[in-house]
Amino acid sequence: MKFKQLAAYFQKLENTAKRLEMTDILAELFTNLDPVEKEKIDEIIYLTQGQLLPSFRNIEFGISEKLIHRAIVQATGGISNDIEAMVHQLGDYGLVAEKVCLDHLEVLSISQVYANLEKLAEFSGDGSVARKIEFLADLLKNASPLEAKYIIRIILGKLRLGVGDPTVLDSLSLAYNQDKLLRPDLERAYNLCSDLGLVAKILFTKGISSIIDFKVMVGCPIRVALAARLSGPEEIIEKIGTCAVEEKYDGFRCQVHKMGNKVQIFSRNLENTTHMFPEIIQGTLDQIKESNVIFEGEALAYDPATGQCLPFQTTVQRKRKHGIESIREKFPLKIFVFDLLYADKDLTQYAFSQRRQIMSELIKKGKVLELSPVEEVKTAQRLTEIFEDAIAQGREGIVAKRLDGEYKAGGRNFNWIKLKQSYSDNLNDTIDCVIIGYFFGKGLRAAFGIGSLLAAVYDPTVGRFKTIAKIGTGLSDDELVRFKETLDKIKINFMPKNVESLIVPDVWVDPLYVVEVQADEITQSPVHTCGKDSKDDTGYALRFPRTVGFIRIDKAAKDATTVEEIKQMFNLQGRK
Ligand code: AMP
Repeated sequence: MKFKQLAAYFQKLENTAKRLEMTDILAELFTNLDPVEKEKIDEIIYLTQGQLLPSFRNIEFGISEKLIHRAIVQATGGISNDIEAMVHQLGDYGLVAEKVCLDHLEVLSISQVYANLEKLAEFSGDGSVARKIEFLADLLKNASPLEAKYIIRIILGKLRLGVGDPTVLDSLSLAYNQDKLLRPDLERAYNLCSDLGLVAKILFTKGISSIIDFKVMVGCPIRVALAARLSGPEEIIEKIGTCAVEEKYDGFRCQVHKMGNKVQIFSRNLENTTHMFPEIIQGTLDQIKESNVIFEGEALAYDPATGQCLPFQTTVQRKRKHGIESIREKFPLKIFVFDLLYADKDLTQYAFSQRRQIMSELIKKGKVLELSPVEEVKTAQRLTEIFEDAIAQGREGIVAKRLDGEYKAGGRNFNWIKLKQSYSDNLNDTIDCVIIGYFFGKGLRAAFGIGSLLAAVYDPTVGRFKTIAKIGTGLSDDELVRFKETLDKIKINFMPKNVESLIVPDVWVDPLYVVEVQADEITQSPVHTCGKDSKDDTGYALRFPRTVGFIRIDKAAKDATTVEEIKQMFNLQGRK
């Protein structure tokens, strides 16, 4: 297939906001690939999501709008000021490229464009800026207007077709099986490797049986398991019986992959964070002898003088590109290991108690990896004691784990249940919201140009963000200024396609940033789209929402609280 045809499909996708229509368009695209093209379906999947590889592979083009500008001028022989004026008018370098690039007789194949983009991302070192401009200009010279539009948007990370993972999974099933029944199998494989391109390629080259047999692969992050909520110790014991109880640590979740002498570390949102944790790499090599292992734990900074663990605000200082060595000296880290997912074989379907057992034999004593202390608890009374003890010591709470529970990749279920300190009579947890826009504000706040945030939660069944609150409380003046600065960099002049909102803020932004929000209660509301599945449904809203701190840099938008969790929290209210 030619890239021109793919660009036409992108245009069709861009023209609709209806998820079902998007699913059909994608299914048609996949069906129209010939057998040789199907072997490269992974490239198409990545491009459709505006990427070259899954995000955990850390591929960046490193090309700013300024460089795009120069490449367009070079490719078209245009005048810089004219291009500037067009950008001003159209607000998007993709549209500018579409306007100024010319049509061609010779057409690029998808593989050619993919290979060129790959090369563009690879240039580095001295003179790489000039080479990138030269190379991109050449690519644009050979691209038709529509192709140029999408090439530019992909490079700038602004493709924004609104095609979420669930839509891709549905359309793969539709293209392969003419129905959506394969979605659970495909989703399971995706949860185990976090790589939609790989899942698609296996489906079309090896067939559905290979998807059903899909196993964890060391080096591909597993989408993390998460904890559900219940209102208190009695409900927990009632639900899962005798359970394993651990502290709920407030640090960085790390999924550590060991392949021989190579160690890779992934965050909760599947970013490759290996460079941030040199001591965990060394600790893993020192304390684990087996070749192929995946384990999970929470990394916490500690005071080297006292050995005391330090709060999240200190641990989070590790999240940086440079200066890791100096911060490491001041605040070294250790990791409390709480799960083992692979040890020369996939263990995700083993019972938790078995995984813990293997883990305790596998991890030798040492300075960095520490097994998370665990207690088997039979009664609500003992659970209450442990919980109160944890809170008294200033901990976040506890996690109770079902002894025979498997590791539920990519999901939140009752195999793990978290219990945190209550801060209101009704809600005993905060809600992670994604900012989708902001309002200018009135009175004193108008001076800042931002007064409140429009916040949404995530609906993973459809891959969309649905509104739940307008938040104006909890934001200090200083934070308002920082929010405005940060959000203005990602503002857009239309409602993002992966957002459903009945409220129109003064400024829309890309749904990228997560804030932690406290509220007094979840109420039913006609104005929000969270939980509003049809026109006549009421949705859910947060009563007295207030932000806790600034943007959560450890969470991606898809890690936000889900609509389903909001429904569960609504039902749990007042049950303490
Ligand atoms: P939450 O972000 O509130 O949904 O809680 C889930 C997070 O708790 C996980 O992503 C882990 O990073 C963290 N966590 C802390 N301690 C534990 C533990 N003992 N077992 C599992 N997860 C834990």
